[in-house]
Amino acid sequence: MSSNESHTVGIVGAGLVGCLAALAFANEGFKVELFESRPDLRDPDQQVLSQLRSINLAVSARGITALRSVDEEMADRVLKDLVPMHGRMVHDLNGKQICQKYGLYGECINSINRSLLNRSLLDELDKLDNVKVTFNHKLIRLDNLKRSSSDNLENAANSEVVRGHFVGTKTNESLTVENVNVWIGADGSYSQVRSQIQRALQMNFSQEYIDHYYLELRIPAKNETAKSSHFDSTCPEAVEVGTEAKFALNPNHLHIWPRHEYMLIALANSDGSFTCTLFAPKSLFDKELAISASDADVVSFFRTNFPSAIELMGDDLLLESFRKNPRGSLVCVKCSPYNVGGKAIIIGDAAHSMVPFYGQGMNCGFEDVRTLMAILKKHEFDFETGFNEYTETRRKDLGAIVDLSMRNYQEMRHDVTSTAYLLRKSVDGF
Ligand code: FAD
Repeated sequence: MSSNESHTVGIVGAGLVGCLAALAFANEGFKVELFESRPDLRDPDQQVLSQLRSINLAVSARGITALRSVDEEMADRVLKDLVPMHGRMVHDLNGKQICQKYGLYGECINSINRSLLNRSLLDELDKLDNVKVTFNHKLIRLDNLKRSSSDNLENAANSEVVRGHFVGTKTNESLTVENVNVWIGADGSYSQVRSQIQRALQMNFSQEYIDHYYLELRIPAKNETAKSSHFDSTCPEAVEVGTEAKFALNPNHLHIWPRHEYMLIALANSDGSFTCTLFAPKSLFDKELAISASDADVVSFFRTNFPSAIELMGDDLLLESFRKNPRGSLVCVKCSPYNVGGKAIIIGDAAHSMVPFYGQGMNCGFEDVRTLMAILKKHEFDFETGFNEYTETRRKDLGAIVDLSMRNYQEMRHDVTSTAYLLRKSVDGF
């Protein structure tokens, strides 16, 4: 038995990042215990899909490289339904579409269904004997994270065991986990692992809600609707997936309807539909777009500001999504350090929640896994040395991308419409 096999890694959160971390540690021979507060999202009886944030995501080279670093064949399997997006398609008020390519050499980001990706990663975990996944269990406490200065030799051994206390979200029963050697917190923006680390040491921490919410809407596949099409195939990389007939808009672009103070975006799904997200100030959601607004007022707002999108969506689907879907808040979290010695560390949104305008939250979380594993391997899985080095080397990059994400909101909702921007882009060849 290798020394890795005798160690158990406990991971809290079976979201996108927690699942990739579990695969990475399992591939290195560790026993992995993965805990998730929600039910298994593959269970057909569960209505958890509606609780998930954003239906599709943009996965970039950063995320793909990280998935490949864990297992190339696994990456091919979980990424098989990608829809490549080679640039932005900016829609003006008159329905004119302007293509802004991302790069000169066919560089692209890719749309993928969040739930499908999460389910595929869970399926990959099911194939491994050294991984145990426990759903419906919420972490409430980690004992013994702090080693007090009065620790003596007698209780030092005890203080090595960091017990995890969970509560069954269905049964309300308590579960104490004592066999874990090291804890990884991948439990999202409101991380309990982070709270536990904060109690054990002096963590610098900031959390900022922005004054904007998001709301998801949907443009159906063309065969679901009699609505007309706004398919623009003038870009060189016009169609790569499916058939032109299936999509009401060109699928190989990230569509933006920028309106300065707010914007609508749309990403293609492989079934021909588009998931649209409206990002707008809270003041708009409190007045014109309040839940109490009349159907006529809601339709009028969208027809005035996003006529070409509403033509494809139809009033009924617009109103159904508007009434049914939650308004999501957007939060930024920065903190440091990410670890307590070699006992526990946070990754993904637990360590660096960012607003979604750069499309990098999950991609960065995946990169956390790649970076952490590379450092740990370099130190032959000496967790204390590896975790400390990870915090030291990673925190500047993560702080920078949280800030860049915020700045890109201004670029997407406003700057892309300015003449200066368009001139600059055309000089650059985009
Ligand atoms: P999460 O996805 O939040 O998963 C955390 C998991 O931990 C959850 O399953 C949760 O149930 C579980 N959990 C929480 N607390 C506990 C507990 N106490 N015990 C046990 N389990 C627990 N990123 C991109 O890269 N590209 C995009 O295009 C993109 N678009 C986005 C669009 C929107 C509108 C939003 C809101 C975000 C977007 N993101 C995007 C960001 C991305 O969604 C997150 O960065 C990503 O989901 C983070 O993954 P995670 O696994 O760290 O956290």
